[in-house]
Amino acid sequence: MTHTVHVGVAESPYDVTIEPGLMDRIGTMIAPLVRSDKVGIVTDSNIEKLYLDRVVRSIQDCGLDPVVATIPAGEAYKTLSQLLPVYDIFLRARFERTTPILACGGGVVGDMTGFVAATLLRGVPFIQIPTTLLAMVDASVGGKTGVDHPVGKNLIGAFHQPTAVLIDPAVLQTLPPRELRSGLAECIKHEIIRDERGFESLEQNLHRALQLDLDYLSELIAHNVGIKASVVVNDPLERGERAHLNFGHTFGHAIESVSNYAYAHGEAVALGMCAATYAAVELGMINQSDRQRIIRLIQQTGLPTSGLTLSVDSVVKSMYSDKKVRSGRIRFVLPTRIGAVTLRDDLSSELVRKSLESLC
Ligand code: ADP
Ligand code: ZN
Repeated sequence: MTHTVHVGVAESPYDVTIEPGLMDRIGTMIAPLVRSDKVGIVTDSNIEKLYLDRVVRSIQDCGLDPVVATIPAGEAYKTLSQLLPVYDIFLRARFERTTPILACGGGVVGDMTGFVAATLLRGVPFIQIPTTLLAMVDASVGGKTGVDHPVGKNLIGAFHQPTAVLIDPAVLQTLPPRELRSGLAECIKHEIIRDERGFESLEQNLHRALQLDLDYLSELIAHNVGIKASVVVNDPLERGERAHLNFGHTFGHAIESVSNYAYAHGEAVALGMCAATYAAVELGMINQSDRQRIIRLIQQTGLPTSGLTLSVDSVVKSMYSDKKVRSGRIRFVLPTRIGAVTLRDDLSSELVRKSLESLC
């Protein structure tokens, strides 16, 4: 069963195709889009062992010549210096403006490859083959690419839209379970900000996602890509609605960074969604029973909702020292019910602290 989601970004619309087993059909999927005899592939040292052979073979079977660059796995290597050998390989292989570059891996590979594609010869076509649930439902839409800098994450980058995104949900079978749950945090986020019926469906089918039921995962991924695409397309310049995607992330980013990334992104976002929902209850914006439903779904996913091991003081400090905070006001995304959120920048620092204490 194939799902296709159209991402109608103004300058360069594209399709996201979701289909179990797609990994063996990458060649035939990309051949109509390619106007070059070569194809660049960037992957990481883990994905290389698991999936590279299949991707390379399917591309060769279509008469194209794959050129592979492998980067070390992990966020620690998401740096500019790791890209230099990648540029070397592709430039020495005489890539041209029409030579596409495929990203085969998680969010790190996707962001780094997108940046190479945005900058090599001032921009070549970029095709994404995301292999983590997080990259499938989040990084596949939005066009953000880049690398980290010691001063902060994703500080060097460019916008570069893919020509196509090809998703094989079957690759989630090898993904560490903690990474799968982390990706589900973003799915829960999407339902809370936009779709009460989607939330209900996830409550009913969560066990199928956790058991890697491929029919359900395909549906879930398509649904989530659709939500993200509609938000991004409605607000291409990030002036308003797109901020809703930050639900759980204002608290979450601070938790992630103070923990020195001991909490995975999705785990920190899960805690962040609980803290934001607590604040919304305190402000009388949402009822307790919706809060209980949100907490229950996050818990059932195996994500943390309490037991914060960090000092609340240091998390509060980190939140207020963020460069985006103007005159002591932080903008939060708070739920008003399951399926809707609103922006608030009038939370007292006492309430921010209390919300974090609710996680301890
Ligand atoms: P993200 O930012 O999307 O969470 P990363 O690119 O940091 O993901 O990948 C997380 C880890 O999971 C990396 O070590 C990566 O090599 C590994 N990984 C990615 N996809 C898969 C997969 N389908 N099977 C097994 N391991 C994977
Ligand atoms: Zn996120």
